[in-house]
Amino acid sequence: MIPVLRKPVRHPPAHHPDDALLAGYAAGSLDEATGLVVATHLALCPACRDAVALFEAVGGALLDDVEPAPMASDALPALMARLDREEAGRPAPAGTAEPARLSDPVLPRPLRDYVGGDLDAVRWKRLIRGIDLYDIPVVSAGRGRIKARLMRIKGGVAVPQHTHEGTELTLVLEGGFSDGSGHYRRGDIACSDAEVDHKPVADEGADCVCVTLTDAPLRLTGPLMRLLNPFVRF
Ligand SMILES: [Zn+2]
Repeated sequence: MIPVLRKPVRHPPAHHPDDALLAGYAAGSLDEATGLVVATHLALCPACRDAVALFEAVGGALLDDVEPAPMASDALPALMARLDREEAGRPAPAGTAEPARLSDPVLPRPLRDYVGGDLDAVRWKRLIRGIDLYDIPVVSAGRGRIKARLMRIKGGVAVPQHTHEGTELTLVLEGGFSDGSGHYRRGDIACSDAEVDHKPVADEGADCVCVTLTDAPLRLTGPLMRLLNPFVRF
């Protein structure tokens, strides 16, 4: 029997950046590392590309008459309703999706530009057994402490339990992982903040490759890991 070469089935992402991040991206106000992670999600997510296009479409004119306040969670629906009223019939902006090919790269274009190639170009550094890291060389560190990293977690391996002094964004590029908040796979973004003490576990089978964004060092909180804190810096 002739073996059938099959592309892995790819689903649209189910977990997205919040509206504040998408609006910040559209406005060009994100730091470089955060912008890179959002751009990478956009390369994989038609829904968020549409949302960013909406934010861009209303642009400065709308922002001018919005009180300077944190973006509310209903900001996007409100914008869409307003667009419906004011800009009915506006043509959809051109998407930025990469054409599908038989051998899709694992790293979408924005990341490949930083890494200098696809996954095989990454110079991994071992963190602990089963977990490798790569610091993505962003030019500007934004608020000073933001770091973007690739992380490769062996299938079935758990990332040591930890909390964050700031927030952490994790975007899955290959494989998947689960934590208390759900299951994440290619294109999905998980957001954790200082409140969350979590322990992501990579799906059995394939390695999980993701890009993480941290704006403060992680603190390990498992009983043994606490002792390692002074030695292990994520
Ligand atoms: Zn999305």
